[in-house]
Amino acid sequence: MVDRTDRLFAPEEALPPDRRLARQLERLQEVLSQTGAVAARERAQQAGLLDGEVNLDKLRRVPLIRKEDLPRVQAERWPLGGWVWWERVRRLFVSPGPIFDPEGPGPDYWGCAVALHAAGFRPGDVVLNTFSYHLTPAAWMMEGGFQVLGAVVVPGGVGNTEIQARAASQLRATGYAGTPSFLATLLQRMDDLGLPAYFQVALVTAEPLPASLRARFEARGLRTQQAYGTADVGLVAYECPRKDGMHLLDRCLVELLDPHTHQPVPPGQPGEVVVTLLDPTYPLLRLATGDVSVLVEQPCPCGRTAPRLAGILGRVAEAVKVRGVFVHPGQLREAAARHPEVQRFQFVVRRTADRDELLAKVEADPQDPDLARRFAESVQALTTLRAEVEILPPGALGQVDRVLVDERRWD
Ligand SMILES: [Zn+2]
Repeated sequence: MVDRTDRLFAPEEALPPDRRLARQLERLQEVLSQTGAVAARERAQQAGLLDGEVNLDKLRRVPLIRKEDLPRVQAERWPLGGWVWWERVRRLFVSPGPIFDPEGPGPDYWGCAVALHAAGFRPGDVVLNTFSYHLTPAAWMMEGGFQVLGAVVVPGGVGNTEIQARAASQLRATGYAGTPSFLATLLQRMDDLGLPAYFQVALVTAEPLPASLRARFEARGLRTQQAYGTADVGLVAYECPRKDGMHLLDRCLVELLDPHTHQPVPPGQPGEVVVTLLDPTYPLLRLATGDVSVLVEQPCPCGRTAPRLAGILGRVAEAVKVRGVFVHPGQLREAAARHPEVQRFQFVVRRTADRDELLAKVEADPQDPDLARRFAESVQALTTLRAEVEILPPGALGQVDRVLVDERRWD
């Protein structure tokens, strides 16, 4: 039996938080002084990051680069908008947009080994890597981490489900990397074909992992953990075995910003994930990912000291501001999930007498007189907002296409 006891992969995982930030800022200074990426150096110069001390205030003077602007930015100036140090590039990937993603030299450029180790992967694991090896970088990100860990990779790629199912069984693959939905498909196919599955650990990403799906994997002894990253910068955060949020990696400086004001959000409130990559090959400064999350700073019992992203709630475009507070449908889904007796629900934002109102329409058995109060409490705990809760009989809402509907009219 492989020893999958949770241990730190690198001592940096347990650094005191202030020491971590100091090291990241030192690293940023080093990166900016070394890099041949001219756009990064120009931006750094304008923000005062090349003179004297490097601190967060100076970094925050750098304008955001929006992910959706990258195709234009990269097309306007060669190479890749001036953001890349060309001499260090070893691979170039092509993501939708098109956005080109450079990979720099060295082992585990994308920072995956720490995440894979935390997910329980160990030397000697035979791993089926089902991310695409064509054009986009996800498969290669995982490869880098597995090579450093000393795992044996089966480069499965996308599709060919039956071939992959047979190979995974015959090669006694103990590990899986890919999307959670393909893992479900693969296991189903193995069951249908009567093939024994030997999987013990899985790292899934690129898609939300519903709690019910994770429970299904884990019921068959397959420990399943998530990670979060982007094709531009690589891995940003990873789950530890507590599975309660994803610890940030030291290789990026991450800010959570209010998408309207671009100011840091208060702790516990959702904000857009903005990433600065501390690597001289492609030192993107303040990439606004469009993803929304919540930062958790409370210590994690696992011993890792990096703050955690409490899941990815969704995209910035889905969020609305209610009474000055940024609310994302993902938070509301989470609040509703705390009440299994709730069958369907919808939130509506209205404006009465110049005041925003948040109304929760909830389908449930009306027998429970206390549900409205408890539901409102969950909403407040997750969003800080007081909601009016209306309990409706089952079926009253009909088809719910959107969790959060903004009915306010601004004249
Ligand atoms: Zn932890």
